[in-house]
Amino acid sequence: AAKEITAKPYVYFNSKLSERLEERMSIEKRFPHALENNEFILHYQPKYTTEGKVVGMEALVRWLDPIVGVINPAQFISVAEETGFIVELGTWVMYEACRQNQAWQNQDLLPIPVSVNVSAIQFVHPNFVNSVEDILLKTGLDPRFLELEITESLLIDVDHIISKLQKLKALGVSISIDDFGTGYSSINYLKDFPVDTLKIDRTFVMNVPENERDAALLNSIMQLGRSLGLTILIEGVETKEQLQFFKEHGGDLIQGYYFSKPLTKFKMSQLLLTK
Ligand code: C2E
Ligand code: MG
Ligand code: MG
Ligand code: MG
Repeated sequence: AAKEITAKPYVYFNSKLSERLEERMSIEKRFPHALENNEFILHYQPKYTTEGKVVGMEALVRWLDPIVGVINPAQFISVAEETGFIVELGTWVMYEACRQNQAWQNQDLLPIPVSVNVSAIQFVHPNFVNSVEDILLKTGLDPRFLELEITESLLIDVDHIISKLQKLKALGVSISIDDFGTGYSSINYLKDFPVDTLKIDRTFVMNVPENERDAALLNSIMQLGRSLGLTILIEGVETKEQLQFFKEHGGDLIQGYYFSKPLTKFKMSQLLLTK
């Protein structure tokens, strides 16, 4: 009887769900063509010191669909992860970010590192370290100019994750923990991971400084990171008051609309030219 029920899953479908599934399948089908047709592009969001000096940038992928227009990662990254396409897409993103960074340096523009988001699925792929090494070789980028942003979901007590991070560090690239504080992780493991920067998620800064409890929480997360010797970056800073709070409490780096939204590569080139 159980078999009969599982053989008829459509019984549970409602029209909303099937609509979503259709949308999902069409995205899935379009991925390979989108990559072949160069429909993915990178935007770059500058990273600043609390004094307002540009010291880095994060590459953020967008899908430029000829019909729909710009599609943001929130609308396709999870589908790409579920289908495994993220490995191919992530490789393209890393290659393009490194190639562009090297091109800017060749043009004598301000040399600052680029950070690339790495999905957990991409990271655990057996070929990941090789592909990073390969991209660095092909683009000629000095590894000091590449940072990998991984999420907390990888902060689990698995030896092979630590050893993979050590291999990446040995290549000379930097590692940051993205969206810190939002995922499931054991803070206890943080000390065992060879990471350089803690990127505190923007949800922790949203109501600061007016909400005292939020301010206290943000301050203690910053202290935690500092006590482990990590660089502290805060995401999503939108106001002068947030910047001020972060600065007063010893934060290092800022990424957020207060200083700059993500920029097209042309706008980023201009920024690097004027600095
Ligand atoms: P993320 O890595 O945490 O990137 C920061 C996101 O916050 C970006 O959204 C950025 O535009 C947004 N943001 C920055 N400053 C502010 C601010 O002051 N206020 C607000 N409200 N938002 C701000 P975006 O570009 O839509 O990317 C969303 C997420 O998609 C990223 O979050 C990242 O998790 C994922 N993503 C983007 N590109 C890639 C990629 O190439 N590979 C993978 N695996 N994931 C990516
Ligand atoms: Mg990121
Ligand atoms: Mg983030
Ligand atoms: Mg975030």
